[in-house]
Amino acid sequence: MAGEDQEGEGYMTVTKLDVKCMSCKAEKTVEVQRQDLKAYEEGAHAQHAFPYLSADERELIISNICGECFDKIFADEDEEDEG
Ligand SMILES: [Zn+2]
Repeated sequence: MAGEDQEGEGYMTVTKLDVKCMSCKAEKTVEVQRQDLKAYEEGAHAQHAFPYLSADERELIISNICGECFDKIFADEDEEDEG
């Protein structure tokens, strides 16, 4: 009889990425699965590798730019009202 009491699964390994926004220098932490990070580093698209992350979190990993700065940098061109 086995009296093992195994708890928890070992295959879901979360790894924390510390990412510093290159624009506003804010430090953010993004949690991803280790195997997903490996897939990304091997060439997988971020949106496929990290489907559970928000667009902002993915942008941090891809470009080192936080969501707020991303919005500023890639905001639609200013519409100049002629007046
Ligand atoms: Zn930023």
